[in-house]
Amino acid sequence: MNDDVARSAYSLPVTAPVSASRYAGETLLGRKRRARKMARVLAETHPDAHCELDFTTPLELAVATILSAQTTDVRVNQVTPALFKLYRSAADYAGADRAAMETLLRPTGFFRAKTDSLIKLGQMLVEKYDGELPRKLDQLVALPGIGRKTANVILGNAFGVPGITVDTHFRRLTNRFGWVAEDDPVKIEFLVAELIEKRDWTMLSHRVIFHGRRVCHARKPACGACTLASVCPSYGTGPTEAAAAAKLLKGPRARDLAEAAGVDPDLVPAAAVLAPEEP
Ligand code: SF4
Repeated sequence: MNDDVARSAYSLPVTAPVSASRYAGETLLGRKRRARKMARVLAETHPDAHCELDFTTPLELAVATILSAQTTDVRVNQVTPALFKLYRSAADYAGADRAAMETLLRPTGFFRAKTDSLIKLGQMLVEKYDGELPRKLDQLVALPGIGRKTANVILGNAFGVPGITVDTHFRRLTNRFGWVAEDDPVKIEFLVAELIEKRDWTMLSHRVIFHGRRVCHARKPACGACTLASVCPSYGTGPTEAAAAAKLLKGPRARDLAEAAGVDPDLVPAAAVLAPEEP
């Protein structure tokens, strides 16, 4: 089936794609309106977006997030059940046997540094916070192994305090969206905070990251099968033909993503549904 035929059976949910030049003189208000519209489309596109690290307590999330550096959430989730069973409190981490913990953490990479961070984290929590994780950003970032990104993940997902998580996907996509023209994660966080309502920060972070993993890939974004095509200045960075773009969609909802973008889901290869998403 050619692309025109494929598209004719599905109406795009938004108006036809436009070029980047349309946004050249965009005002802050215009950008804010467009960003919020894109955020709404992302919410509809990725209703399953969530924190992919498994945890039941703020401490477990802090540990899982520290372990997620330079590896995938899937890999972390394979390691944490055994870890969380043995180390249940900050005091357990503070008094951990280094060699035993290194053995457990080895599959996540950088296991010596990560072991060091977890033991020091436990020690500082015991010394300064009675073994509890603090709830303030400035207190969290002062803890071993916890940077601003990790702190925002903890605030947003364990404490319900809105936080923007700027990881590699969030940085790439917000630049492609024309929300920012910036590489520095802290500057990106503050710029996006001006565009998006605070109550939406945590879920927006998950949705942007899901879009980066499943649609707007680093090398070849699936522009022709993207629900943001009509409002994205970077439309055309990847293939715009429906058939070519549909092949690039990844993850368990690849067919739904195609359909949401007005593309025939039968153009999505069966393997795409099982293909590993970008880490
Ligand atoms: S896939 Fe293409 S159209 Fe969609 S957000 Fe990425 S660059 Fe923009």
